[in-house]
Amino acid sequence: MLTLETPVQFVKGIGPAIAKMLAEKGVATVEDLLLHLPFRYEDRLNPRALNELQPGEMASVIGEVRGATLLRTRRMPIFEMTVGQGLSSMKCLWFHGTYLEGKFKPGQMVALFGKVEASKSGRGFKMIQPQFEILPDGSDDALDRILEVGRITPVYESLSGSRLASRWIRRTVWNILEELRGIPETLPREMPESILARLDLPSREQALREVHFPAAGTAMAQLQAAATPAHRRLIFEELFYLELGLEVKRKKFQEKTGIAFETSEKVRAALREILPFHPTAAQKRALGEIAADMRRGVPMRRLLQGDVGSGKTIVALEAMLIAIENGHQAALMAPTEILATQHYLSAKRVLEKAQRKYRITLLTGSLDDERKRAARRRIYQGEADLVIGTHALIEEKVEFANLGLVVVDEQHRFGVLQRFRLMKKDGAEPDVLVMTATPIPRTLALSLYGDLDLSVLDEMPPGRTPIVTRLVADERSDEVWEFVRKQVKKGHQAYVVYPVIEGPKDDQPELDFALPEEDEPQGLKPTSFRAGYGTAEAVPFQSRKSTTKKTTKKASSAELFPKLPLKSATDMYEQLRTQELAGLRVGLLHGRLDADEKEVTMRRFQRGEIDVLIATTVIEVGVDVANATVMVIEHAERFGLAQLHQLRGRVGRGGAKSYCILMTGGKISPNAEERLAAMVRTQDGFELAELDLELRGPGEFFGTRQAGLPDFRVANLVRDRKLLELAKIESARFVQRASEEATPEERARVAARLKDAWQRKYGLAEAG
Ligand code: ADP
Ligand code: MG
Repeated sequence: MLTLETPVQFVKGIGPAIAKMLAEKGVATVEDLLLHLPFRYEDRLNPRALNELQPGEMASVIGEVRGATLLRTRRMPIFEMTVGQGLSSMKCLWFHGTYLEGKFKPGQMVALFGKVEASKSGRGFKMIQPQFEILPDGSDDALDRILEVGRITPVYESLSGSRLASRWIRRTVWNILEELRGIPETLPREMPESILARLDLPSREQALREVHFPAAGTAMAQLQAAATPAHRRLIFEELFYLELGLEVKRKKFQEKTGIAFETSEKVRAALREILPFHPTAAQKRALGEIAADMRRGVPMRRLLQGDVGSGKTIVALEAMLIAIENGHQAALMAPTEILATQHYLSAKRVLEKAQRKYRITLLTGSLDDERKRAARRRIYQGEADLVIGTHALIEEKVEFANLGLVVVDEQHRFGVLQRFRLMKKDGAEPDVLVMTATPIPRTLALSLYGDLDLSVLDEMPPGRTPIVTRLVADERSDEVWEFVRKQVKKGHQAYVVYPVIEGPKDDQPELDFALPEEDEPQGLKPTSFRAGYGTAEAVPFQSRKSTTKKTTKKASSAELFPKLPLKSATDMYEQLRTQELAGLRVGLLHGRLDADEKEVTMRRFQRGEIDVLIATTVIEVGVDVANATVMVIEHAERFGLAQLHQLRGRVGRGGAKSYCILMTGGKISPNAEERLAAMVRTQDGFELAELDLELRGPGEFFGTRQAGLPDFRVANLVRDRKLLELAKIESARFVQRASEEATPEERARVAARLKDAWQRKYGLAEAG
């Protein structure tokens, strides 16, 4: 008997060979397959007549192949097919369509989906790169006739090339659902009945059926936006378990013993002593919230969110002083060596003013073994008050004598919090403060970081002048270098950033941060989540993943956007130093220098001994030199919005007018164009983040894997934001009142499911 847990191998029509292919796509069980949802739907129930199409609309058309041919134009091979309905016909074109040769035979019926465009001649229409499916001919079996036409047809992301494409998935899912029909308890209800009733959501079984094979009459726009009750049911369930896990975690923390720090007058005096400036109101508020947490005997778990330059560092430093003044150690963990080094240098500078001598220790991966050992010993013996480091703090098995507070600067999340627990010798749980400059839209932050409390720095320190941002074509680089010279002459400094360390090989570490070749040249943008809000037109074309065949995509984007040789930091350092910027003091900074070199260069730039710093994205986060007024970014089209914003945030930190110059060469994709235009248009980190989310999708935006965030199967954090909030509310309520709202069996089921979801699916330990 089939159940959701049955391995796919035992499904009719799937043997070991196919099961293996599926396994590669993460599909192991019947449930996995059923949760492989269609990424769009075609209305083949009411396909459109060719003679009633309107240019500009997206349409489903079913027609007969009249002819097909490969045209070899000078620029590229184009595959052309003509489909007809009675007396009307329409041309379909595929660029680089060589792979389509021999695919269509006259007389075949095809279903097409794409954007309708007026043809050049002015008569009739054409479609460029439409999605297509060759329909089974009349002789095929009955199931094909039921599933392929005369209905709203689900279209799936292929699970393995053309072998396990839409048609195969349709049939298999259909067969599974048929087999499961009527067997009670094979699609177990995994949500408390009371919640389903309150939210008016269908049963799981019904949801699964409707999401794959929507009833005639289901609104197409709702389907495409994944907003039908059936979709909402499945998405809500996934989000509910995420939020429930966060809620449980949060509650568990509240039961743990933390350290109740004191903020006596003596401690306050120590804080005041080092303050280099009047804090902004936002900084005061944030520090107040942090101090209140620290005074409580419950471990702090707080997120400090503030745009680039909003002044998070001093807030963190003050918090660390509270711990130190209470006789504990504090640790600050930074994502890169350069940033750790900078934090180290600036903490030293700030703390020098104090009467008490604070003992500060730096620990990064590239220190030599002896220095590492010495640092570890000082930390273990309690001879270090403030420890600043990178991931090495975790990797080098550092043990603290008396750790009271951990500050994690930028990025890493879940994993880090857990592993810090391993390091403390015993006693109470240290407090944790996570700082991020990623301007996660507020509601999203609240739901996503549900186990953290949130403090926001929503105000910039005084005296900032807006940064002038300009887009400049490569051909005008002479003017750019001239401008840099002028600024240096005025006593200022500049950064010049490149996407790679060394050329022409582009397998250098920092390239990981730069974008690969990307973007659909036909202006297809990931709009799936946009559609979820009903703001834009329902653009059902794009899935979360790319829908175009890999081969086509590669070929055409390379042709339309030829890959220029990338300038690299190392090469350009040599060139600029000896040519365009000859006579200036030019420095080089990138991730592959060893720790000492990095430190020396950072120090010299900070002291004004270097005029122009040629760098990679290693300077993206945190680097803080107020005298720098120019940020030049070459190959700007290669960088993501968040990165560009971070990089720009390196200037405009002092009183002087600052400039960000985005240089691009060659043709750039529409998507990159939009990013750059946004950079010129606004300096608002939240606005840019929203756009970034839209352009890149949440997976990449949050750096899912990097941040340890769960990979969702049916949910999309941006599109489904409203449901996420709802899930948060419902999960909190469930935790509070489970005994009233759910039967004991339901509670047991929810608990088991929660554990499973968090361990297996999200890979986050320790829930439930
Ligand atoms: P971020 O939030 O990006 O980490 P930083 O903490 O590096 O920002 O602060 C950015 C710059 O603003 C630093 O040079 C810092 O010294 C300065 N700064 C921070 N707070 C204030 C303030 N209240 N008044 C004046 N300057 C400040
Ligand atoms: Mg910072």
